[in-house]
Amino acid sequence: MKLRIAVYPGSFDPFTYGHLDIIDRAAQIFDQVIVAVSVNSGKNPLFTIEERVAMIAKECTHLKNVEVDCFYGLLVDFACQKKARVIIRGLRAVSDFEYEFQMALTNRKLNPNLDTIFLVSQPKYSFLSSSIVKEIASLGGNVTGFVSPGVAAWLSAKFTNKKPEV
Ligand code: ADP
Repeated sequence: MKLRIAVYPGSFDPFTYGHLDIIDRAAQIFDQVIVAVSVNSGKNPLFTIEERVAMIAKECTHLKNVEVDCFYGLLVDFACQKKARVIIRGLRAVSDFEYEFQMALTNRKLNPNLDTIFLVSQPKYSFLSSSIVKEIASLGGNVTGFVSPGVAAWLSAKFTNKKPEV
């Protein structure tokens, strides 16, 4: 049997329960899931790459077939390096579709051996995004139910300029 390796790329700034749900489900489908934090210069992230990798690794310790990494450059090159044949993306609403469809077709053009598989969000997380979580946290709101207590502590530390304990 072939080893089925899937890459789940994203910004994860910060990591939410919506992301964790996708990883949980992907880990049951694939032999190995590599969560790949993208170093995207077009965005101005709240958390550094190292912080996001550490944050995700901590939240996924119960999933033995999940590893966390980061990548610079093209996702297709990273996937190839990791011998992955599948890219996983989450779909929350129709509004996600157009961009995701374009990315999937672009990645397939760049590497025809790579397929994108979409996992549909659970309805309870379909409204949830990292940017909404950042907005709430920045205004001192309660993010319980959106992110884990660990990520909530990271957020609170960011907005009060303290360093959280990892
Ligand atoms: P990106 O900047 O690459 O979109 P994100 O961290 O925002 O990075 O999202 C990474 C992936 O997780 C995307 O496929 C996105 O659609 C998916 N995702 C984000 N939030 C949720 C959620 N609440 N439920 C399901 N999938 C989600």
